[in-house]
Amino acid sequence: MVWGVDTLTGKDIEIAADMVVLAQAMRPSTGAQDWPRSSSWPWTRTASWPKPIQAAAGRERDVGMFLAGAAQAPKDIPEAVAQASGAASKAVTILSQDRLFHSPTVAKVISNLCTGCGMCVAVCPYDALALKDGKVTVNEVLCEGCGTCTATCLRSAIQVKNLTQNQVAEMINACLGG
Ligand code: SF4
Ligand code: SF4
Repeated sequence: MVWGVDTLTGKDIEIAADMVVLAQAMRPSTGAQDWPRSSSWPWTRTASWPKPIQAAAGRERDVGMFLAGAAQAPKDIPEAVAQASGAASKAVTILSQDRLFHSPTVAKVISNLCTGCGMCVAVCPYDALALKDGKVTVNEVLCEGCGTCTATCLRSAIQVKNLTQNQVAEMINACLGG
């Protein structure tokens, strides 16, 4: 006897069965390990909200890649098909343009404050930072303006344009009526 719940109707169900076959566990392919880093999540990982199909860019070659279906996690066919349609639309949007545009909200280094410690380079999830001649440099094409580097730098030597620490503080003050 199998007891369960029909999740569509919310009703308890009871089935007298001669044999019960359980779905086997799914594991990500070994290729998923080569995808975006810094996560204990074994499947491929998407960028944070609102980019549900855009791959988190752990390396330069991942930028512009989109994920769909069971590459991301176990999921059913309708969800996989919907996600695949979204991924294809995103890819067409890029491929159909003569020029690509990028948000100007990217990191900027205040060179005279930077000691070249490399902490920001290590944490950037988009591999947009590199050390050159003892200072950090920003690859503005790769930078997604996430602000992780800003939160990491102990010297406030790297800030996101138009979203500097002072500007954020002012916004918080304004919200709090200060
Ligand atoms: S963490 Fe700050 S000081 Fe260190 S390399 Fe990055 S910007 Fe420079
Ligand atoms: S804001 Fe900083 S951490 Fe985020 S992508 Fe740009 S360089 Fe990397």
